[in-house]
Amino acid sequence: MTVSADRLRDLTLELVEVPSPTGDTADAARLYARRLEEVGMDVELLDDVFPATPTVVARLRGSSPGPTVVLNGHLDTVPIPHDPPRVDGDLVYGRGSADMKGALASAAEAVRVVRDGRPFGGEIVIVAIGLHEAPGGRGEDLQHLLGERAFTADAAVVCELSAHDVAVAHLGSATFEITVSRPGMPTHELQTPPGTPHPLIAAARVVEAIRTRAEELAAVEHPWVGAETYFLGELHGGDFYNRHPRTCRLVGTCRWAPSNTLAAVEADFRELLARVAKETGCTIDLDLRLVRGAYEIDPGHELVHALQDAYREVTGAELRPVGIKVVADGALFAAAGIPTVYHGPQGSGAHADVESVPVAELVRAAQVYVALLRRLLC
Ligand SMILES: [Zn+2]
Repeated sequence: MTVSADRLRDLTLELVEVPSPTGDTADAARLYARRLEEVGMDVELLDDVFPATPTVVARLRGSSPGPTVVLNGHLDTVPIPHDPPRVDGDLVYGRGSADMKGALASAAEAVRVVRDGRPFGGEIVIVAIGLHEAPGGRGEDLQHLLGERAFTADAAVVCELSAHDVAVAHLGSATFEITVSRPGMPTHELQTPPGTPHPLIAAARVVEAIRTRAEELAAVEHPWVGAETYFLGELHGGDFYNRHPRTCRLVGTCRWAPSNTLAAVEADFRELLARVAKETGCTIDLDLRLVRGAYEIDPGHELVHALQDAYREVTGAELRPVGIKVVADGALFAAAGIPTVYHGPQGSGAHADVESVPVAELVRAAQVYVALLRRLLC
């Protein structure tokens, strides 16, 4: 049995037709779970801790003992409106088609093909989650599965990114929210005692301190992932032209290399803000929240080689190792000690107004998963 383009197109469309913004994926999870059951998998729907976003854990056991290999994806999509789903020629359009319901269809199809092929040892586990896309999700459900539930495996494929190269590293990322404040109420500018700390002027110093730090970071290129960054995306403060304000808020991101840690980034950031607080007399609070950690795998790791061999078998071409900036769930699997690679179909328009995925890419990704599973499960 071989990969079916029609089935891939139909399942992708069916999944995209069920809206599943981050945090509200129960219907899509139940649909996907049903389809995996039809493929012959033992499906668990874990809905005790995250009832609105059940985690799908589906297993297909081989005929003899062997390694456990995970195909992972997220059923949630960004909550950005999209035109109704449709198929046009080779393209499936709709929110989540490229990011990443198409990839989950490819994973299901790969399991079907492996099931009908020669006997294998070990097991395939599909893990589909619903709290992936920040800021609504930060992988809490996957973290719970890998932590409290002690889920483990011998290898994992996160079925997105890296369609025609192989990511061997990505940056970690966190969002920050800084609140600059002074005691007391907002007051008329002329009735405010001289020397009262001014949150907007303090915020300007914070902006300058971030700019300086960002410039220093830009000067250091890390292998694979390039420079670390501080990025400021929002600045809000004051509410009337002649009122001395009480607070100001700054929002942005920090991104760091695999050699660095969130703890070290946070210590660095707090020191920078403490300096400004001391100079200005304002109170400066930092709320730094992890999106995902950094990720890396040795390009010589056998799992990377197995993926490269599988891709070559299917396409005749080479998967070149690269570093990427964007974060994803490989960081969580890797942090749990599970060797992990990224590989998915190449769609377009993730997080954009128009999102689509070519059926040919779904076929190609499913074929690579089959070739990879056959290498790993023996
Ligand atoms: Zn995604």
